[in-house]
Amino acid sequence: MTQSETKGWCPGALHPMMSGDGLVVRIRPRLGRLTAAQVLAICDAADAFGSGIIELTSRANVQLRGVTPASHPGLVDRLQQYDLIDDNAEHEARNNIIVTPYWQLGDDTFRIATELRRRLGELPELPTKFGFAVDAGEVPLLATASADVRVERNVAGDLIVRCDGAECGDRVTVDTAVGKIFAYCRWFVETGGASEKRMKRHIDRFGPPSIAAPLQSSSAPPVPELGASPIGAVYGAAFGRFTGKALARLMTESAAVALRTTPWRRFVLEGAKAIEGDDFITDPSDPIQFVDACPGAPHCASATVETHSLAYALAGVVSERVHVSGCAKGCARSAEAPITLVGRDGKFDIVRNGRASDVPDVSGLDPADVTSWLGAH
Ligand code: SF4
Repeated sequence: MTQSETKGWCPGALHPMMSGDGLVVRIRPRLGRLTAAQVLAICDAADAFGSGIIELTSRANVQLRGVTPASHPGLVDRLQQYDLIDDNAEHEARNNIIVTPYWQLGDDTFRIATELRRRLGELPELPTKFGFAVDAGEVPLLATASADVRVERNVAGDLIVRCDGAECGDRVTVDTAVGKIFAYCRWFVETGGASEKRMKRHIDRFGPPSIAAPLQSSSAPPVPELGASPIGAVYGAAFGRFTGKALARLMTESAAVALRTTPWRRFVLEGAKAIEGDDFITDPSDPIQFVDACPGAPHCASATVETHSLAYALAGVVSERVHVSGCAKGCARSAEAPITLVGRDGKFDIVRNGRASDVPDVSGLDPADVTSWLGAH
């Protein structure tokens, strides 16, 4: 395994993280939904208090970059005015809940996620990256999203709670789901899971909890398509990154009433139709959506290479999915990719069919030579 700096915690709005381009301030939208007024406030705040850049994270959160220690207090005030942050940093850190983006008011996902959020303070102390997926729509959509305990439906349509990495879950009702989540969290802590940090690693090593019933969960579905969805238009963002100005323009032109975040660097504009433009991805065949790239240098202090220029150059040129990572941490994609380029000391290593943290097949390529090397191999 190659080395990278792992912070071991995730930034929040009250507890931001310093990066190469300033503080990263992460907003965790409640149930993954932001009203139009909240979105416009975030867009304005991105310019007023940061670099103007907004990012969508793989946990369906939104983050602003380029905030300074001096501008951070004003940003927090602004976000609080729009009810965008939790009461304290401890509650914010526990609020790692991803919900299926198509939930409706009063449905199972809404009710379970709302109760889980209300009772976060009752959870035992868990590792900082530990999180939950509430995915109780007709079809589970979040099977590949990062989560340690999942609420989803099995092939028979029954509601189940499942530990990530386990093949089985326990059948629950809307009223018992949160209690079962807590039971799995207590089992994780009491059996020493904190040292493994994530549920899947713990289960891979020690096996699933004995409280699990033999009830198989459904398999992972594909990521929702760009374009029309049951609640509005689905848009993509190259590398999950765009300017506040571009998003504000889109919100106004589309007359969307709200924005739903997703873990796939896509968002849904409630009540809006897709409007074509250059700022966001609307074409399902656009090759840029098959390239993952983290911010890289100079935006991230851990990177020694630029990532986005190479990622754009490779889009449509390489037929397989490509992950361009500034270092071995692999923030942009935790899953394997056919080709992963990993920055190290100003050059790129290449991992075939693996992750950024895997042992590379080729080492030390100059960034200018990567495209031709991939073409020749
Ligand atoms: S993968 Fe990219 S964003 Fe993540 S730490 Fe490394 S350089 Fe930074």
